[in-house]
Amino acid sequence: MPTDTLPYADRLDRLRTHVKERGAEVAVLTPGPDVEYLLGHSVASHERLSCLVVPIAGSPTLLVPQLERLGWAGTAAEDAVRIATWLDGQDPYALVADLLPAGTARIAVGDHMPAGHALHLRDAVPGSELSLAGEAVAALRVRKSAAEIEELAAAGAAIDRVQERIGEWLRPGRTEHEIAADIAAAIRAEGHQRADFVIVGSGPNGASPHHEASDRVVQAGDVVVIDIGGPHRGGYFSDCTRTYQVVGEPDPEFAAVYDVVQRAQQAGVDAAVLGATCESVDAAARRVVVDAGYGEFFITRTGHGIGLEVHEEPYMVAGNSRPLAAGMAFSVEPGIYLPGRFGIRIEDIVVATEAGPRRVNNCTRDLTVV
Ligand code: ZN
Ligand code: ZN
Ligand code: ZN
Repeated sequence: MPTDTLPYADRLDRLRTHVKERGAEVAVLTPGPDVEYLLGHSVASHERLSCLVVPIAGSPTLLVPQLERLGWAGTAAEDAVRIATWLDGQDPYALVADLLPAGTARIAVGDHMPAGHALHLRDAVPGSELSLAGEAVAALRVRKSAAEIEELAAAGAAIDRVQERIGEWLRPGRTEHEIAADIAAAIRAEGHQRADFVIVGSGPNGASPHHEASDRVVQAGDVVVIDIGGPHRGGYFSDCTRTYQVVGEPDPEFAAVYDVVQRAQQAGVDAAVLGATCESVDAAARRVVVDAGYGEFFITRTGHGIGLEVHEEPYMVAGNSRPLAAGMAFSVEPGIYLPGRFGIRIEDIVVATEAGPRRVNNCTRDLTVV
């Protein structure tokens, strides 16, 4: 990650505090976004065990298969932690057990650690009890630093530029797959590591929020949901949805429902002030849709956190009473999905700041015919 400072030692320190608060004695995390956040780098090792071992007292160690060691060369991890290796034929779980301070029993494992690793680790540490480390890591990851917010802003500006060119590709007579392939190339050309998702939901397909793309041929007059994003070069995700009509005069019913979604999205963003709860952001957007009579067609939560993962804490959903704090970043993406007809969704990534909600997506939200 291109930051001026290397924050990793500090992140590991703060992780210890959160692990301890939750009653565990060590966190053991396998490669993925948590490790990427804590060390600035992550290398997957398939069925072989790689793990970051962070005792609440004592120094952290990264254990990796010898054959993966070069993948960590020259990274900040070499300064932040000791790196130990194991060879095929050795028992890596016994090596982890040896790394733990004597008497360690309460082990917090990463939420996405494969069950096989977790249970072998449990067996290698007599008397051990496993818990999940997800909340402890999320407590750090949920509030973005200034450098992380700039990464999200760069990702947002890049995906905005792709949305602004949609009319070049979204043409009648082309299939969703053909359109999606062009969009994916543009996402990569705009500095993303890859296009993680390219939803082209034309006509009735738009009524399924996670429809990706199909061989349906786009027709003149179609309403089309375009929801696109991926990890930008710094690893932070973009995620932006706009809904377009393909040629013609705006259909009056489309225009009326579009107006409801646009007002709901604005209400959700406006509600995202410091101290407001996540569920109140959902409620603010939902109220507009319910009042307009479309409540039963708003079939998703209003938003999800975003960072090194496209979906992470905090979730803008009924029942989540977590208050917004400065640096939290999340989507506000209400939608109305009319089965058999069309869907409309408008999505921006928003950061909660002292100065109020800050959108990192700024391409037009007004009804656009391409
Ligand atoms: Zn989604
Ligand atoms: Zn989203
Ligand atoms: Zn999206």
